[in-house]
Amino acid sequence: MKSSDIALLRSAVRDVTDFPSMGIVFKDITPLLSDAALFRLTVDAVTETIEGQGVTKIIGIDARGFIFAAAAADRLGLGFVPVRKKGKLPWRTESTEYDLEYGSNCVEIHADAVIPGERVWLVDDVLATGGTAAAAAELVKRLGGELAGMTFLMELEFLRGSRRLPENIPVASILTF
Ligand code: AMP
Repeated sequence: MKSSDIALLRSAVRDVTDFPSMGIVFKDITPLLSDAALFRLTVDAVTETIEGQGVTKIIGIDARGFIFAAAAADRLGLGFVPVRKKGKLPWRTESTEYDLEYGSNCVEIHADAVIPGERVWLVDDVLATGGTAAAAAELVKRLGGELAGMTFLMELEFLRGSRRLPENIPVASILTF
């Protein structure tokens, strides 16, 4: 991806201060999604990181991760698997809880979504503290899947989320802040 394209994507992300709570700077991607050329560029960038990696499915994280994971899966002819917040998936699930700054969160995956030994790739919009991605990685591991790598549209480097992710798994962050 050209550095001028990366700059374009970066400039389309809108910072919203104190959302959803005081002190948080929310990275709003809706300006990037609503522009046809920018949306395509974003999906191009995500797709490039996964192409040729020998994976059969892309795992997308609830909810903004779904947008890019599903689009990239379609481009690459791969399956799409949602990791969702607790209580949203209808069938038998594997679930894991993780700590947030205040309290905890729980994410789930369908128990048959990944076949043992299957190589998969994880996609989300933002890597912040890394708790969500680490939990999703744990779910893939419990199902016996092989996590080949992860792609984030944005990494908030100052939160050092990559330290919480499993070691030796490639992480691609298209934009870093
Ligand atoms: P974390 O578990 O702290 O890495 O948070 C990652 C998840 O929370 C992702 O699914 C993001 O969609 C969301 N998230 C965390 N921080 C932000 C932020 N500053 N702006 C937008 N989304 C965020």
